[in-house]
Amino acid sequence: MTSEFARIEVRDVGGVFAARQLGREVAAALDLERQDQVRVATALSEVGRSAVVSAQTAAIAFSADEADLILTVRFDSEPPADGTRAAARLMDEAAVDGRVLRMRKRLPATPRLDVTSVTERLAALFPPSPLDELRRNNDDLIRALDDLRQQKEQLVLVNAELEETNQGVMAMYSQLSEELEQTNRGVVALYAELDEKSERLREASEAKNRFWANISHELRTPLNSVIGLTRLLTDPGAGSLDPEQLHQVDLIQNAGRTLLTLVNDLLDVAKAESGRLRIDPAKVALPPLLGRLRGLVRPMAEGRPIEVIVSDEGAPESILTDELALTAILRNLVSNGIKYTNSGEVRLSVRTVGPRLEIVVADTGIGIPVGQQQRVFEEFYQVPGVRRGGTGLGLPYAQRLSGLLGGDLTLTSEPGAGTTVVLSLPHGPAVVGTVLIADDDPGFRQVLRGLLDGVADRTIETEDGDRALAAATKDNVDLVLTDLRMPGLDGAALLRQLPAAIPAIVITGLDVEPPPRAAALLHKDELTRDRLAFAIRNACGKT
Ligand code: ADP
Repeated sequence: MTSEFARIEVRDVGGVFAARQLGREVAAALDLERQDQVRVATALSEVGRSAVVSAQTAAIAFSADEADLILTVRFDSEPPADGTRAAARLMDEAAVDGRVLRMRKRLPATPRLDVTSVTERLAALFPPSPLDELRRNNDDLIRALDDLRQQKEQLVLVNAELEETNQGVMAMYSQLSEELEQTNRGVVALYAELDEKSERLREASEAKNRFWANISHELRTPLNSVIGLTRLLTDPGAGSLDPEQLHQVDLIQNAGRTLLTLVNDLLDVAKAESGRLRIDPAKVALPPLLGRLRGLVRPMAEGRPIEVIVSDEGAPESILTDELALTAILRNLVSNGIKYTNSGEVRLSVRTVGPRLEIVVADTGIGIPVGQQQRVFEEFYQVPGVRRGGTGLGLPYAQRLSGLLGGDLTLTSEPGAGTTVVLSLPHGPAVVGTVLIADDDPGFRQVLRGLLDGVADRTIETEDGDRALAAATKDNVDLVLTDLRMPGLDGAALLRQLPAAIPAIVITGLDVEPPPRAAALLHKDELTRDRLAFAIRNACGKT
């Protein structure tokens, strides 16, 4: 392999000396013997001199391969003969090829050609002339400019790619936002549809309740007449029927009674659902209520191997609730227990759990399959294959009543082992922190203050809706009691603007439906401490 390590151009005498000196140094750097160093230097000096004399430029390149030092001299035209001749004498080889004179000098046997160290050594010996330096700097500059141009081209390329990518991203983004917008539009439409559907459902449910209530009323009168007439016919004093006719009239009477039960149940559920069922809370003495229930349900189990136990053990003396509703719930639960138990017992027991009273009705009956334990609370649902009379309305009605009492029903059951239903009711005194009263009648505000004594920690009074709203958002209010008709912001508007977290009870002299935002509506002329306490306990317990 040939490696070049120096170059020089000879145009004048100075150049001749420089070529001579460089020749000697290169020869020395390549470990040539002293005499050979002089031969190389002289050959170059002669070649240079002949060029200068013949007004030519001699461009000399110094290189070497494994065996020889190689000097290549390029002239402007034919190499001068005297220079060539001298070179042939002094060098091992000198050959002319066109305008080029190529010379070789054999290197010592063991030189290790280290091009870098030779170049460095030469560079140290021949510091570059200002012109050389300028040329080199220019070369560097040109190279740097070239690099710069290439980099610029690359940058343009990268920019173009980036722009393309950006366009892609933008396209993707706009597609995504469009899709999102479409999805959102779909969701909004879906919500609107849902709202519309639930509104229609509500209307349908109201229509159903109205229908039930009306039809029940209409059916009850003729049914009662039928039952009354059959009773007259079967009266022992009547005496005009033979035994077969008596039997048939008995059948008519039984069918009439069954029908009347269904009609009554329908009416109850319709009333409870439409909110027309009046809940009248008062202190109810619990042990006597349970005693009456005992008397009511025991005959239902007559002649069957079932023990019906209604225990008042551990029951509190009284509970603030609606007596009729509580009796109806418990009668339903115990009669279900008796209906769906073949043998064993149906037991009602009472326990107090924190601020709640739990009334448990447990039986050892046929139980309810797991998949049906929620469905039995649906209207008219009866577990398939176990019909024992009934209408499928008892449990939904009991559940609806429990809700109106501020309580809830939970059912657990194991098929073949029995069913347990727990009625959990709020129990204990009503207590509340700060109550805001909004009423323009100072006399009635005083009445309310009195009724709240021992129930509320603090009361704030305002005479209109605007002040009430300001106080409700400023003070820490736990409950709002508001009139409906007030100067400025009226009660209905106040309720609409009131923070959702604050429960509110309407207390009014008007005969109106309760506004949807109100937890309860109480009538001024019927207001008692118990009714107010009951409404407060339910309203505050729900939030
Ligand atoms: P029904 O008038 O049919 O008793 P309910 O609404 O009271 O209607 O009860 C609905 C259904 O739940 C019943 O038809 C019955 O299948 C089932 N069920 C209710 N209570 C019990 C119970 N204690 N044990 C077993 N099944 C019960």
